[in-house]
Amino acid sequence: MKTKKVGDISIDVAVEMGIDDGFPANMLVPSFDMAVLEAHRDICVPFCFNPATGGLKLSIHTWVVRVGKEVILIDTCNGNDKERPAFELAHKLNLPYLEKLAAVGVKPEDVTMVMCTHLHVDHCGWNTQLKNGKWVPTFPNARYIFSKAEYEQWNPKSASYLPSDINMNVFEDSVLPVVEAGLVDFVEGDRDLNETMRVEQAPGHTFGSIVLKMQSKGQHAMFAGDTMHNAVQILRPEWSSGFCNDPVMSAQTRRRLLEFCAEKNALLMPAHFPPPHAVRVKPHGEHFVFSPE
Ligand SMILES: [Zn+2]
Repeated sequence: MKTKKVGDISIDVAVEMGIDDGFPANMLVPSFDMAVLEAHRDICVPFCFNPATGGLKLSIHTWVVRVGKEVILIDTCNGNDKERPAFELAHKLNLPYLEKLAAVGVKPEDVTMVMCTHLHVDHCGWNTQLKNGKWVPTFPNARYIFSKAEYEQWNPKSASYLPSDINMNVFEDSVLPVVEAGLVDFVEGDRDLNETMRVEQAPGHTFGSIVLKMQSKGQHAMFAGDTMHNAVQILRPEWSSGFCNDPVMSAQTRRRLLEFCAEKNALLMPAHFPPPHAVRVKPHGEHFVFSPE
């Protein structure tokens, strides 16, 4: 992917894995309707739908954002060596992710900020790596930004603890070690981090999900995490994924974010869109359409 520019912001991507066969459409998006895809086939194929498998294409990647002196990673994929007995895709991986970061000019010690849009298995794995039998922060000089509500959802000691098999061990090996190292800043509510960056609550996929909005020189970017997994959900914002804690709330959040992107012509960068990984959004009747960028 060519470096994207939004004002003074430079954006690259480090892909941990591409899933070009895709996920079975009705598993990823239970309301998926082939007729909608056919009506928009020109923008969906080959970008986000694989006609040979009938699958919705995915990617697991980290957004690498540089602005001023900041080197920011958004979502850190699955990680290596992690025990994920209930999630084969992420179990005991040995992938050249740090080499992918190096290929876009980033060494672990360069990173100033890591933001996890939420704490699912595929969004916080590289927060830590296994060294001498211990999970240690991969990015020792970074501040890690977590949503407080999200942290509570996965914290076994919290009243709002909501465990899931797919996330087994994630809190212990990828979240707690960075908290115990004193590297985490928790955010609550909507908050400007500085004049370029704003964190907003985006509940539904998980209750504590957050998104990052950025702006520079009148141009806008939105890092949308898993508020949408595949671009067919732009065509029908009411189609929530099968992995959402609250599908109705997720649909409301998705529509609100899409309205923002359409109004501001923001570059929309979710966590799992296949190459080129980003889109622009336009209103289309009661729904939206997109163009990959
Ligand atoms: Zn995800």
